[in-house]
Amino acid sequence: MISIKMQEAINAQINAEMWSAYLYLAMSMDAEDKCLKGMAHWFHKQYEEEMEHAFKFVGYLQAQQAKVILHPIAEVPATWQSALAMFELTLEHEKKVTRLIHALCTLAINEKDYATQSLLQWFVNEQVEEVNTAHDIVETLRRIGNDQYHLYEYDHSLGKR
Ligand code: MG
Repeated sequence: MISIKMQEAINAQINAEMWSAYLYLAMSMDAEDKCLKGMAHWFHKQYEEEMEHAFKFVGYLQAQQAKVILHPIAEVPATWQSALAMFELTLEHEKKVTRLIHALCTLAINEKDYATQSLLQWFVNEQVEEVNTAHDIVETLRRIGNDQYHLYEYDHSLGKR
């Protein structure tokens, strides 16, 4: 009981979540190269979380007897200028994902698709948290600036995620 339009939009979102996972995996690799082990761990957790988001949508489509289509995943960058650059992009990206989730909500409302609206409520709340977390890290890294000692300390604390 889910429209073709809604199925296509959710399939596109599965791709967006997997692209996010791929982006954070690349950041994890780059943080490792920069010897920021805590951040490498943090981004790896973020990668795992994005895959969970993708599979939440996969499971939902399957429960609705709808077809899951895995589209190609576009290339992601490999290197960033700094830790701050990585988290600034994370913040921008999470704001973009929030807009995608909200667009899905609008579609589900227009389609009078109550089950999808219910599923999406979880994602709406999740995005508030994602944007807030990224925002806090960006602000902290801006305050740290070029202070290598505090960057080292903060990297260590992010590794505890
Ligand atoms: Mg996500």
